[in-house]
Amino acid sequence: MATGDTEIIELANGVYARLHEGLTNAGIVIGDDGVMLIDSLRVPSFARDLIADVKKLTDKPIRYVVDTHSHWDHSWGNEEFPDSTLVGHANCRREMLDPDITVTWRDKVIASGDPWAEEAKSVRITPPDLTFEDTLHLQFAGRPIDMHWLGRAHTSGDIFIRLPDDGLLFTGDVAQDGGVPYMMDGYLKDWVGTDSRLVELECDRFMAGHGPIGSSAAISEARDFIVTLVGAVEAAIADGQARDAAASAINTSLSERFGGWRGFERVEASIAYAYDQISGA
Ligand SMILES: [Zn+2]
Repeated sequence: MATGDTEIIELANGVYARLHEGLTNAGIVIGDDGVMLIDSLRVPSFARDLIADVKKLTDKPIRYVVDTHSHWDHSWGNEEFPDSTLVGHANCRREMLDPDITVTWRDKVIASGDPWAEEAKSVRITPPDLTFEDTLHLQFAGRPIDMHWLGRAHTSGDIFIRLPDDGLLFTGDVAQDGGVPYMMDGYLKDWVGTDSRLVELECDRFMAGHGPIGSSAAISEARDFIVTLVGAVEAAIADGQARDAAASAINTSLSERFGGWRGFERVEASIAYAYDQISGA
């Protein structure tokens, strides 16, 4: 399949990042009695590739699959794990059961013509069966694993998975190292508050759903991006600026600091989306 390379990096004893260039990352945590995966990837064949990579590391069973959020490229591999407990936020489950959301995404993926478009037609969308609202604490693989929901952001059900003993955090799509997140399902004003709580979760390094492993400083930069964008949109609305002119001007000003980030070409349309959302249009 014509996709980028995958690379598995050991972040701590038994904790791995499986990075997929240009696509979606997954986390792998191996304990004495089983494995936890963080995200199941975009379609079943991608999940099976992930399972094959896990088998190269261990023959232990996959006990947990944690969905960082509902988006198809993170969770549409869930059906490949019928013997695992699927964990996610209650809103992640709600979004995955909402036909308006899933039909929209399925149509978009099928229309993309991407190598996985055909397979997307037959995905059985399988939501998490163990959900929580604010926090879930688990003792697994000889270490505490803390899962936090800190408010709406990139979706309504983004969670952060923290391994405090290892200084590691998994941030899903809320914060990337040098990458613009997809904002068109986001809650932009809430995202500012969520980011302010996210930067309080101590870590040395983090794996996002896309892009490379980052240091905690990159989480602060990701916060700065959202705070700057939302602040500029609010100022433009207060100033009575029209949407498209404001989006163009804010895009130019954001490009000075963030223009080199992956996905920056998406920003102007996202600013227009933020303008409509914040102004209640
Ligand atoms: Zn996402």
